[in-house]
Amino acid sequence: MRPVSSWGRLSRDLHDVIDLDDVSGAGRRIAGSRPPGLPFGNGRSYGDVCLNAGGVLWATRGLDRFLAFDDKTGVIECEAGVTLKEVIDLALPRGWFPAVVPGTQWVTVGGAVANDVHGKNHHRNGCFGDHIESLTLLRTDGSRIVCGPGVEPEWFRATVGGLGLTGLIVQVRFRLRPVAGPWIECERHAFQSLDQFFALSEASIGDWEYTVSWIDCGTLRSGEPRGIFFAGNHAASRAQAPTPPTRRVPLTPPVPLVNRLSMRAFNGLYYRLNQAGTERSTKHYRPFFFPLDALLEWNRIYGPGGFYQFQCVVPKVNQEPAVRQLLEAIAPSGQGSFLSVLKTFSDRPPVGMLSFPMAGTTLALDFPNLGPATLALLQRLCAIVDAAGGRLYPAKDAFMPADLLLHGYPEWQRFAPYRDPGISSQMSRRLVGH
Ligand SMILES: Cc1cc2nc3c(=O)[nH]c(=O)nc-3n(C[C@H](O)[C@H](O)[C@H](O)COP(=O)(O)OP(=O)(O)OC[C@H]3O[C@@H](n4cnc5c(N)ncnc54)[C@H](O)[C@@H]3O)c2cc1C
Repeated sequence: MRPVSSWGRLSRDLHDVIDLDDVSGAGRRIAGSRPPGLPFGNGRSYGDVCLNAGGVLWATRGLDRFLAFDDKTGVIECEAGVTLKEVIDLALPRGWFPAVVPGTQWVTVGGAVANDVHGKNHHRNGCFGDHIESLTLLRTDGSRIVCGPGVEPEWFRATVGGLGLTGLIVQVRFRLRPVAGPWIECERHAFQSLDQFFALSEASIGDWEYTVSWIDCGTLRSGEPRGIFFAGNHAASRAQAPTPPTRRVPLTPPVPLVNRLSMRAFNGLYYRLNQAGTERSTKHYRPFFFPLDALLEWNRIYGPGGFYQFQCVVPKVNQEPAVRQLLEAIAPSGQGSFLSVLKTFSDRPPVGMLSFPMAGTTLALDFPNLGPATLALLQRLCAIVDAAGGRLYPAKDAFMPADLLLHGYPEWQRFAPYRDPGISSQMSRRLVGH
């Protein structure tokens, strides 16, 4: 048994961790382990979706082999424990890049499928699942299912975004996108109101593949939110680049370093550094896509109590008033985060029955865990999302009420028969009892 935390570090419960290292033996090992078990990738989910306190975790990082790569078509096949960083390290020098990347490259391919992760290009490329040709799923009854958009499509729709509950994904075959090199042409604009944010988002869709905005949580009390809108496209330059350096947070401070004062100071400084007009620049892909990866173990700055991440999406028809209500609820609490992200999603229908994105706007914020005060704020935010017809992202969640899951994910009942009875997570027990 070993203590395991997810990225939010809200708990450190003992788990019976079974390290898988070869696909041929994996079926036997999951069928023979004490139920319920749960697949575990690289623990980059923030809440309890990847946890199974007191139970078994099948750790997949040892399933790390590349099986095929066609550098003419960009189709790659690998085991599920390969990280997106490893995919990029292999593919980029050959002119290919993942079609969708989340805000960290330290996720496994299996984890990217099970949460059907999205990136800054949802309006162009949808989610990770949109680019999968097929995957292999092992079930605890010993069966093996190969599925994809054209083969066993309902198993595919249940497993993409299926939160690890349909079985253990062992192999994935997916398409990359061509790129010239490691560079991104970027543009940034300061905005001083939500209306300006929506106008910038709308105007950028045609010209920019990647868009995302940061909002200043330190000034929410004074009315309209201000922030910085970032846009990017892969550059035509083939020039090679030195690998940007990384640093590590050396220890967990005894108290959170994120508090009202530091949050206001950081946000004010960040805004001032970025506000000057419209700036064009060329950036390496790492600081553009994965700015937080430059500081390894940055999650420690929230101290021993850890932190919650709140990420919701609200539908397009309600997006403006709903985002405003969310920000207005956060402002008087004095809680708020260094990195608050706002982004619009397109109306592209998701692949998975439980995929998170919907046409509308997503808002993501970190909150240091201050106990009941933080949970009370999170419940107020959940009520606003529910009333607006939105939903929360399970990859980030540790607190949503069961009603919000069922309202937000109307396909949950359709998904239920595809669950593997030998698999459960802390999240599924918290929300649906098993
Ligand atoms: C800094 C940071 C930025 C992020 N930015 C984004 C973002 O922009 N967009 C976004 O969508 N997400 C984002 N995330 C969340 C992250 O992409 C997801 O939580 C991702 O699923 C984590 O992958 P993992 O390999 O660590 O899986 P884990 O967190 O270990 O597991 C996630 C889920 O996948 C299941 N799972 C893992 N491996 C398998 C497998 N082989 N078979 C079946 N099920 C499996 C687990 O049971 C669990 O339900 C971010 C996370 C961090 C830390």
